[in-house]
Amino acid sequence: MSSVLQALEHILFKERGTAMRCTMCRSEAYDTFTSEAIEMDTGLLVIRNIPCYRCKKCHNLFCAGNVLQKMERMMRFAEKYPRQVTILDYSEKTFDLNRDD
Ligand SMILES: [Zn+2]
Repeated sequence: MSSVLQALEHILFKERGTAMRCTMCRSEAYDTFTSEAIEMDTGLLVIRNIPCYRCKKCHNLFCAGNVLQKMERMMRFAEKYPRQVTILDYSEKTFDLNRDD
């Protein structure tokens, strides 16, 4: 029985082969959220609840490319409406990539 479970675990492991790997050490990374403060000429932009991955081994934090694209949109918005501090939530649909400016 245990060998069956081991075989199954092996299959699951193979299926999880597509799981995110750390960009630094290639170890397995888990989904999490972070906040980022970006110093811009127009003021400080804080983006909260950014989906990202953290490496289980070296704790390196990294995001998918489309996440960075959405953050760029948020930066352009903050430039358009300059304030000392702008706080945005990543989950806001306004900045989704499938929307036109
Ligand atoms: Zn790592």
